Amino acid sequence: MRFDIVTIFPELFAPHLTQGVTRRAFETRQVDVRLWPLRDFAVDAYRRVDDRPFGGGPGMVMLAEPLEAALAAVRAERGAPPAVVHFTPAGQRLDQAQVHQFAAGDGAVLLCGRYEGIDQRVLDRHVTHQISLGDYVISGGELAALVLLDAVARLQPGVLSAPSHEQDSFSDGLLEGPAYSRPVQLPRADGASDGVPEVLLSGHHARIARWRREQSLALTARRRPDLIEAARAAGRLSREDER
Ligand code: SAM
Repeated sequence: MRFDIVTIFPELFAPHLTQGVTRRAFETRQVDVRLWPLRDFAVDAYRRVDDRPFGGGPGMVMLAEPLEAALAAVRAERGAPPAVVHFTPAGQRLDQAQVHQFAAGDGAVLLCGRYEGIDQRVLDRHVTHQISLGDYVISGGELAALVLLDAVARLQPGVLSAPSHEQDSFSDGLLEGPAYSRPVQLPRADGASDGVPEVLLSGHHARIARWRREQSLALTARRRPDLIEAARAAGRLSREDER
């Protein structure tokens, strides 16, 4: 799959695409990321990509013409993209279901907004998906693009050493419960210590799986009861889960 990223800060991407488990997906081009520095498509001698908004008001707006030229260049190279994504607080909040859709697709063009945002005419002409990270405002769409790329890359076959994403939060509609590792007893300053739940040391796989499921259900019921309701409505809770 191929992601074409239109941005005024292409240098923000390399540090994130060359580290950690997802690196493999990017280096092998399983997830092929192409960067399109927007200033290369500026139409004036000053390489301007922003200007004041018509009607007045604070901040600057990303100019339509450089964006149109960048999108035309992307199309000339790859043909019509399967999706054009605009990251915006006004978008649909990104969730794991949408990540799975992108992970199974052929990629997209990702438009990274800056300043007060992008000239609306570009959005009206080209955008197929508006995606938000959540109800807060960040300085640019690059971090949002990186979030999507990371979430998509870790779902690609062979990227994680075991298919651990199948146990991740949201994969079965619930939150993932707690995890523990060495030491078995973690000393406290007062001389006492915090142990590990006994069942995890038992070697009894069925009991461990049941305990993990119960922890996941309890955590989800406490923090995100809406997810329990959704799992119930989708028939994803067993009779044992409901006990
Ligand atoms: N004035 C805009 C507003 O109030 O909606 C915010 C502009 S923000 C400073 C600059 C860019 O950051 C946006 O165009 C968008 O691409 C990105 N951005 C900011 N918050 C975001 C969010 N919650 N989700 C996705 N992208 C966001």
